[in-house]
Amino acid sequence: MNAPSFPQAMPPELRLAQGAAPVACVDIGGTKVAVNMVDHRGALGRRVEPTAKQGAPDALARQVLGMIGASCEAAHIDARDIAAVGVASCGPFVLNQGLVELASPNICGALAGSGRGLPNDWTTAVLEAPLREVFARVRVENDGIAALQAERRWGALQGLDHCAYVTWSTGVGVGLCVDGRVLRGKNGNAGHAGHMFVSDNLDALCGCGNIGDVEALVAGNALPRRFPAWLDAASVLIAAKAGETGAIAIIDEICRVMGRMLYNLVVTLDLQRISLGGSVFWHHRDYLLPRLQAQLKGRLPALTDGCTLVPAGLGERVGDFAALALVA
Ligand SMILES: [Zn+2]
Repeated sequence: MNAPSFPQAMPPELRLAQGAAPVACVDIGGTKVAVNMVDHRGALGRRVEPTAKQGAPDALARQVLGMIGASCEAAHIDARDIAAVGVASCGPFVLNQGLVELASPNICGALAGSGRGLPNDWTTAVLEAPLREVFARVRVENDGIAALQAERRWGALQGLDHCAYVTWSTGVGVGLCVDGRVLRGKNGNAGHAGHMFVSDNLDALCGCGNIGDVEALVAGNALPRRFPAWLDAASVLIAAKAGETGAIAIIDEICRVMGRMLYNLVVTLDLQRISLGGSVFWHHRDYLLPRLQAQLKGRLPALTDGCTLVPAGLGERVGDFAALALVA
């Protein structure tokens, strides 16, 4: 496989070298699934659908296969010519005979029970096995780990050996690199820092079953659950930016929690830089970034002074590049 030929300047183009076989790039989140084909012409045939959460436990894998087919058709690519399928997915993963299944709190209804309201009783969503029945080369990684690799290769973490990528979106995901080594762990689940326990708030039920972990307190889907007066995270953020006192108090509080998680990562791993993305952060980064930075500033300066928090270099397209980083 040839390396992508796009320049380092931002925003880079998703493109493979002339003559390289196409690759399929799949981004699986708790809310939506996105599929692109990438070849020498660039990214083509983009398809986006809400994440399948009903039917049999292989419904999500069937959805991905269907979307790859539709994407190929739109891009005028024969699916048999696909060299590899890269899948960047929300976790956690469990391995079944060495193949990845998802035990994701925002997808599998059996994890937190009926209180969470997901329309299925899955303990896992089968993923890798059905893809391997069709494609010879499949690589599935946690989306935080994949995004970290994309940010190190093309984004805001280039040239850094001690760094992290944090996505603040429907959930909270993290990819970690120390001493130049991307941390994966025994099942590829390193970086699930969003499930760090930080409080006993009874209003904060995470999809994983924890009450009071970071994701349950600050994730995009947590805010309307914790604060029912608000439709979604974006409406709280827009009101806070407009000066509404109640909304400002909510955002200050969730930045305190998120900022402490970032602080904990920095002091545990001695990081140089953390880049941040995800829909909650990205669309309100000018407002959120200083509030997160304030949680590190002055705390144990020997560890925090040498670390910067920055917006993701790949911006809103981290997810697309994350999957490409796995197979390009
Ligand atoms: Zn959790």
